[in-house]
Amino acid sequence: MTFRSRLALFLVAILIVVQALTAGLVYGVTRRALIDEGRRQLDVASGAFARQLDDLSARVASSVQVLSLDFALRSAIAQRDRDTVLSALRNHGRRVGATQMLLVGLDGRVEADTAGRFAEGAAFPYADLVARAPQQPAAAVVAANGRANWMVVVPVFAPDLVGYIAAAIPVDDALLAKLQAQSALPKEVELAAREGGRWHAIARGTGNSALTPAIAARGDTLPRSPELATLDGREYVVQAVPLDHSRSSPAVAAVLGYSVDAALQPYRAVAIAWAGLLGFGLVVGLIGAWLIARGVSRPVERLAASARRIEAGDYAPVDAPARDDEIGALAAAFDSMTQAIREREAHIVHQATHDPVTGLANRSAAEASIQRALDDVDGDAALLMVGLERAPAIVKTLGHGVGDRLMHEVGQRLSGPAGAALIARVTDSQFAVFLPNTSPRDAHNCALRLIDVLSDPYREAELRLDLAPAVGIALSPLHGRDAATLLRRADVALIAALGADEPVAIYDAATDPHRPERLSLMGDLQRALGGDALALHFQPKLHLASGRIDGAEGLVRWSHPERGPLAPDVFVGLAEETGNIRRLTRWVLDAGIAQASRWQSAGRAVRVALNVSARDLEDAELPRRIATLLATHHLAADRVVLEITESALMRDPEAALPVLHRLADQGIALSIDDFGVGQSSFAYLRRLPVRELKIDRAFVAPLAHSREDRMIVKSIVELAHALGYHVTAEGVEDPAALDYLAGIGCDHAQGFLIARPMAVSAFDAFVAAREVSS
Ligand code: C2E
Ligand code: CA
Ligand code: CA
Repeated sequence: MTFRSRLALFLVAILIVVQALTAGLVYGVTRRALIDEGRRQLDVASGAFARQLDDLSARVASSVQVLSLDFALRSAIAQRDRDTVLSALRNHGRRVGATQMLLVGLDGRVEADTAGRFAEGAAFPYADLVARAPQQPAAAVVAANGRANWMVVVPVFAPDLVGYIAAAIPVDDALLAKLQAQSALPKEVELAAREGGRWHAIARGTGNSALTPAIAARGDTLPRSPELATLDGREYVVQAVPLDHSRSSPAVAAVLGYSVDAALQPYRAVAIAWAGLLGFGLVVGLIGAWLIARGVSRPVERLAASARRIEAGDYAPVDAPARDDEIGALAAAFDSMTQAIREREAHIVHQATHDPVTGLANRSAAEASIQRALDDVDGDAALLMVGLERAPAIVKTLGHGVGDRLMHEVGQRLSGPAGAALIARVTDSQFAVFLPNTSPRDAHNCALRLIDVLSDPYREAELRLDLAPAVGIALSPLHGRDAATLLRRADVALIAALGADEPVAIYDAATDPHRPERLSLMGDLQRALGGDALALHFQPKLHLASGRIDGAEGLVRWSHPERGPLAPDVFVGLAEETGNIRRLTRWVLDAGIAQASRWQSAGRAVRVALNVSARDLEDAELPRRIATLLATHHLAADRVVLEITESALMRDPEAALPVLHRLADQGIALSIDDFGVGQSSFAYLRRLPVRELKIDRAFVAPLAHSREDRMIVKSIVELAHALGYHVTAEGVEDPAALDYLAGIGCDHAQGFLIARPMAVSAFDAFVAAREVSS
């Protein structure tokens, strides 16, 4: 239901209710007043009626008395001249309005009847009246056969009492009408007689009421004071006045009525006028309510429409007329809210698309802009990815404050050579510069200029920081037609440039670790790390002095669901490049330490050597993680050796050193893998907490026939021993080599000659078999 119809409904309902209550109240009060008035009128009328009847009876009595004194009548009675008596009675009867005149003898028998209803000598039925008559005229109502008469009995003296004259004056509709006309009698008057135990109406006034049933129901008791009664659905105030009646006659009463409905009649016009007014009020109220509601709901609907527009991102000013009521205030507030939202959204969009430090576009914004530029022009374009090799180390050692100021300055320096080109900060230490309509040569030149501006060290107070910039270039359309590809490939080129002598590199698909098949392999590896496709195999290490297998190197094996068994060289390097190596190492450490612990519990003294990569040494968490593993598997730290290649150590010695020291402090032995092929010197090794050197198999394999290699290996072993290192020779493939190594006092030998890397069960069987044979 809309606001409009609700308001209209409310107003109409209120109007109707108030009017109805008022009408009810007025009706109730008026009715009560009318009933009271009716009571008062009936009270007065009943008294008046009684007096009228008394007057009537007195008048008739005196006329009959006059007749009784008539000489001719008296002598006619005395002479029993019946005809003369009858004619005198008739004459007089007519004069007093009697319908029947009787002469009653002293014995109470009828001697003459003008109406001829009594036979001569019949008993006069109203003996009580005759008995009262000698003293004074007696009068009372008599009823019989549904009619009533006023019966007056007067004595006749001649000079002694000779008889009685009775006159019957009919009390009928005509008489009642006459009485009504003479006085203030109400219209509703009835005369009722109680015949056969019930009240019957025997005469009616001019009204067309039927009041008698109101007293008929009550039996003997009469409503002597005014009472309210409903007759045929109409309301009356009713009062009964009992009339004097002969003892031989049934009781007779006058019933007076006051019609409340009739009294209300004049007010009907008022009621009709009231209803008309109500109707008019309703119409006016409805129109008014509708107009007011429309005045409120229209602007509200407009505001709602504006809100929906805002929801859809349209911040046009609110379309609502200026008014100075509450709605106007709402519209104004709404409008300023819209402005505020617009500004805030612009702010948020800026924040979402810009780097707060440099104010340059961020990666996602840059990607979108580059994509738009690529869509618009179809000439050559180039994306230059600028990286600062030293930036992560600077932030790590000097903090983000310096880092942010440095990046800010780099952003500004870049804008020189880049000119109007789009510059964005795409990662913490990388900026992208997009050059539309650029030949590869121009792109390369621009890259060189960028290197140039970044070659000046960054200065701040006492600091002087070399940034070691490099630029990777991806060309469009040669290396890709969409922004995401270009960004990724420029990134690959940058990685190549960062490690190279030449600081500018153009993308080369051959070195791209993100080639789709390699990426999918990494996805598979991630799944394998969670499943059971990986296994750790172990290659025995032979202790040459004792001839016992007292160690093993753990080497990871992956049986790929589609490609079958994969050599570690295929996926370990890839995992290093794609950042998956830490998870792989975690898996290897877990599996290796668990196995070492099982061997320890089985009473087998096997030291487990596990390979870790350069990236792992950048992980400050590594020592703590290994400590936790050792603790959970209840393994002594000296049961584990970590093998690290020379090249891994050389990558970021500053970061690796503290990790290595913490590992060594925990009692974990470190071994330099592939020793001899790298450039590390003994002098450098002295600074590292290393316990073992593993001579690379490139020197070991040719031992049998290369005198030179024999010399190298022999001097390494001697020098290492002199400096306190253990030495393992790996890649021992023939007995001659093994003999030579034993001869020069090398500590351990590892190679296919002794055993290939194998699953744990095979390893256990191999060791058990050797122990039996020795
Ligand atoms: P590596 O650490 O130098 O491991 C020794 C490699 O030489 C193993 O190859 C082993 O099978 C092989 N080998 C052992 N004896 C002989 C021999 O007499 N002659 C010859 N020609 N080769 C021998 P694999 O298992 O293919 O591992 C290759 C490399 O993959 C390893 O070289 C290591 O750098 C890496 N790798 C293997 N497992 C892991 C691992 O769990 N973690 C990490 N980070 N790298 C691993
Ligand atoms: Ca190794
Ligand atoms: Ca090795």
